[in-house]
Order: sequence, then C-alpha cells, then structure tokens
Amino acid sequence: MAVYEHDVLVVGAGLAGMRATIAADAGGANVAMITKVHPVRSHSNAAQGGINAALTSRGDDWDDHALATVKGSDYLGDQDAIEVMCSEAGDTLIELEHMGVIFNRDEEGHLGTRRFGGQEVARTFFVADITGQALLQVLYEQIVKSQARIYEEWFVTSLVMVDGQCRGVVALELMTGQLHLIKSKAVILATGGSGRVYEPSTNGLIVTGEGMAMAYRAGAALMDMEMVQYHPTTLKGNGILMTEAARGEGAYLLNSEGDRFMEKYAPNMMELASRDVVSRAVQTEINEGRGVDGCVLLDLRHLGRELIETKLSYINEVALDFVNVNLADQPVPIRPGCHYIMGGIKTDVNGATTIPGLYAAGECANVSVHGGNRLGANSLLDTIVFGRRSGHTAATYAAEAGEKAISESVINADRDFIKLLMSREPGNDSWAKIRRDMGDTMNEHVAVFRNEDGMQTAVKAILQLKERFAQLAVRDNSQVFNTSLLFTMELGFMLDVAETICVSALARKESRGAHYRTDIPERDDENWMRHILVHASPEGPSIDYLPVVITRWQPQARSY
Ligand SMILES: Cc1cc2nc3c(=O)[nH]c(=O)nc-3n(C[C@H](O)[C@H](O)[C@H](O)COP(=O)(O)OP(=O)(O)OC[C@H]3O[C@@H](n4cnc5c(N)ncnc54)[C@H](O)[C@@H]3O)c2cc1C
Repeated sequence: MAVYEHDVLVVGAGLAGMRATIAADAGGANVAMITKVHPVRSHSNAAQGGINAALTSRGDDWDDHALATVKGSDYLGDQDAIEVMCSEAGDTLIELEHMGVIFNRDEEGHLGTRRFGGQEVARTFFVADITGQALLQVLYEQIVKSQARIYEEWFVTSLVMVDGQCRGVVALELMTGQLHLIKSKAVILATGGSGRVYEPSTNGLIVTGEGMAMAYRAGAALMDMEMVQYHPTTLKGNGILMTEAARGEGAYLLNSEGDRFMEKYAPNMMELASRDVVSRAVQTEINEGRGVDGCVLLDLRHLGRELIETKLSYINEVALDFVNVNLADQPVPIRPGCHYIMGGIKTDVNGATTIPGLYAAGECANVSVHGGNRLGANSLLDTIVFGRRSGHTAATYAAEAGEKAISESVINADRDFIKLLMSREPGNDSWAKIRRDMGDTMNEHVAVFRNEDGMQTAVKAILQLKERFAQLAVRDNSQVFNTSLLFTMELGFMLDVAETICVSALARKESRGAHYRTDIPERDDENWMRHILVHASPEGPSIDYLPVVITRWQPQARSY
C-alpha cells in the first residue's frame, strides 16, 4: 500500500481550502489539498454577488462594517471574531486584486462597489455576477504555482484520531475504488456547507456537509446548527439563486397587488434589509394570499437592459433558460429557499477546533462571525480571511507536532462499512428517496417559520430516515467511479447534519436571526445570548451552551 504523508492536509478545494493551502505552503509546510470534485467545481464557484470590505482609502470604516455584521447576526455573532474579519477585509481584498482578480471598476477607474443587504454603505466588491468563479480561478492559479499536492476526486470518509489528536484521514479514490490512509500532522476541514440537507436549495448537489458530520463523529463540537439561512430570492420551481446583487442594483420586490411590500416590514432599508427579515416578509406575503403562484415578483425592469446585460447577465440567462423571463421585460417569480448554514464546526479565530490537530475554515466552520444571520457577501470574506489564518496556524502547529505511529488498520472500519453496503440484500428503498424525504422534511418543518410541533416531527422523521438508511444497500458493486456508493455515503453524513440542526433548533427557546419560532416570536436576550453546542454521544446528540462574546456593541432592538 502506498503511504501518503503530509504536514498539513486541507480537505476541500473551495475558496477556504485553497486560501488555507496557499498559506500553509507559504509557511513552509509539506501541504496537500484533497477534494471530491475538480477544484474549480467547488460550490464557491457559484457565488454571484460579491465580497465585502471597508476600504479606509475610500473613506469607509471597518467599525461600521463590524457593527452591520453584529446587527445582521442578531447579536449572536462573537464580536471579537467579527472585529478580526472586518479589520482584515481591506488588505484581503487588495491582496486578491494583486493576485489577479479583475474586479469591476467604476466610471473613474476605481474598484466598483454595489450595496448589499443589511448595510447602509456600498462596500461589496464584485466581478459582474460571477464573483466566486473569478476568485476561485485566480486562487487555483496560485495553487498550481505552489508546491502543494492535489488529491483530485478523492472522497474523505473519516478522520484518523490518535491519542485524541487528529492525524490524517481515510479517503476513497473515486477512480479506482481504493481506500487510502493519508497521514497528516494537521488536518484543515474546508468542506463547505450542507445546503442539500434541504430541498430545494441554491447549493450545488455536492454540498452535503460531510466535514461537519466527520468532525462531529470524531468528537468536535458543532455550534449554532439551528441557524440556517433562507435566501429571499430563489427562482420558482428549481430554487436557483437570483443574487441579492439584483436588489443591490435597485430591483423591487412586488406582491400580487403590485405593492413594494417591504415598506411594511423594513421602511428604511426596504429590499435591502437583512436576509432573515426579507425572507420572512416574502413568506408572509405568500402565506397571507398576496403571492403569485406560491411566489412573489422580483422586478428589475426599471434598471434598464444595459445594466442587466452587463452586471447581471448570468441571472438574466438563468431566468430566460428556466422560466422564460427576460429580466428587462418582465418581473421574475421568486421565493425563499435554503442557501447557507451559519452554524458549523466550532473554531477560534485561527481555525482551531476543540480537537488538537483539527482545524476548520469556510462554511463548514463556525468562527462565529455570522451568528443568527449572515450578511450577503460576508461569506466569501470569511472563507479568505479564516482560510488564510487556519493555513498559517496549522503549518505552525505541524512544525512542532512530532511523529506518531499510525496503524494501517485505521481504514478497516470504513472498508467494512463499504463491504456491508455492497453485500446487503437490495430492497425497494434508495439513497435518492431517503435524500428527497430528508430534504422535504427539513424544508417543511425547520425552515423560515418554525414551531415546537413541527420541529418534534422533524426529529422523529430524521430518526426514521436513519433507520431506513441502516437497511440501505448499494446495488452497484463496481470499483470505478461508483457514484451510487458515493451518494449513499454522502447521505449517511447528511442525516447526521440534519439531526444536529433539528435538535439545536428545538433547544433554542426564542426567536433570533434565521431561527424564528411562531410559538415563541420574541428574542430573549436575558436567557439566550448564548451559543448552542452539540456533541455526539452514545445516546445521540448532546447539547451544551456558551456565552456570546461582546466587545463593544450591546444588543439592541433590531429594525431596518
Ligand atoms: C449559489 C450561491 C451563491 C453565493 N453567492 C455568494 C456571494 O455572492 N457572496 C458571498 O459572500 N457568499 C456567497 N455564497 C456563499 C459562499 O459562496 C459559500 O459559503 C462559500 O463559497 C463556501 O466556500 P468553502 O470554501 O467553505 O466551500 P466550497 O466552495 O463549498 O468547497 C467545499 C470543498 O470541499 C470538498 N469536499 C467536501 N466534502 C468532501 C469530502 N468528503 N471529501 C473530499 N472533499 C470534500 C469539495 O470537493 C469542495 O472542494 C453563495 C453560495 C451559493 C450556493
């Protein structure tokens, strides 16, 4: 058996994983990046609207960005972490520009900005409506230039733990069906979100939350898992994202009576209130009978054809292809859809998790910069800032970690599990049916509006789905690119993530940010200025609490 060995292994090749890899490589570590898809197919590629930064040279102030983020988070974000992210944003943006990202420019030739939700100031930098793709390609060039090795189309199946430390991973090479042990003194999880635990979702089909589930199984704490963001504007039918940049450029939201209904919900910020507020408003209009076919309308007509075709051409193409709407001529039907998870693996501002040797960055992590609700365009910033920090810290840690003997037998459990999946008698059930039922359950009961009964129903339903999963067989026994095996294994991880979301949601007895309970509609600062932690235990998920870090901004009533 080949032996693979590194100082730092980065799991994931999205923006967080790439930035971490570049930082660890610059720190002199022997670093590798492992990814289940080609690097530039990572979901970061789909980011449309932009990346936030307060540039002091433009008269902006990172304090103001930090305050908007704290308020956007509904005061659940840790303010020390938010200060780190916002104060490092300016240099981060300029560094990306110097690496070669061709940001849009304004008429004077300066970097152009657009306004995003929950912020008074236009501080979102962008490349048309393909910002993620532009960033990811440029970072990929840096990876190719570096010494880093890439394991491409390898699927990580578990973390290797030795004496309480993370010391590598077990991974399935999809091309050959072989399982491998990859030893590493430090491992950085940058596996992205878990959006596909819900259906429909704006997320790519590959966004299945394994990193969170693997860390959870290995004993790490997940935090704020109840905080799942529904984006207000996803396309009718399939839930493809219609970027917030449309509203940033001035688009209206209209109900069936032609009213700009945001006037009722957020008279000052209107369509650019924070996402949780706008999603609740849209859903309320639909629920109260002022929708159009289960949707409301996003109207861009007054922005003019030229702006639409230059700055929003991607969503214009999507609207044309899927619902036959040209945004310059007609409003497009949209509704809230699952988009992002604020919760994730608990880390400090250097990416360290509760397990020595294990780091996390990007959407799978929870540094606690988004709290109860992430501001649009803060996630790309999060991936780059904390990707860099975790890469740097992991390289420093690995340099002092010393050697540990690791037996090849650590791969046996995963090998036995795969054998079991392939040897079971196939019944009528399939991974696709269970995955669909899970997505529907989450979308029905743990979505924009929640209540005790619905969440209890969801917990029970997920446990039943786990029982069905425990009987599931993989019919295809082939070794080469066995996608049935891959999708089945993904589903196992997704069910763990779904369960942690449900139990965390049940635990939070108030409404805050994206977690809105119709049975307890008020925010309760006295009792709930705290994070919800969830650990794996033999009896199932176990809940713990941690106070929110406040530095400068005391909680206030939140209005937009
Ligand atoms: C449609 C859309 C538009 C968005 N627009 C914006 C925006 O404009 N601005 C903004 O700030 N945010 C936006 N977001 C959010 C933002 O894009 C994501 O939060 C961010 O890109 C996540 O990056 P990441 O590096 O954490 O993970 P990802 O880019 O999702 O990458 C995850 C990586 O992990 C790998 N991986 C996962 N599991 C395994 C495994 N088991 N084995 C091996 N590899 C694995 C994958 O192969 C992949 O390389 C958007 C999100 C979506 C879905």
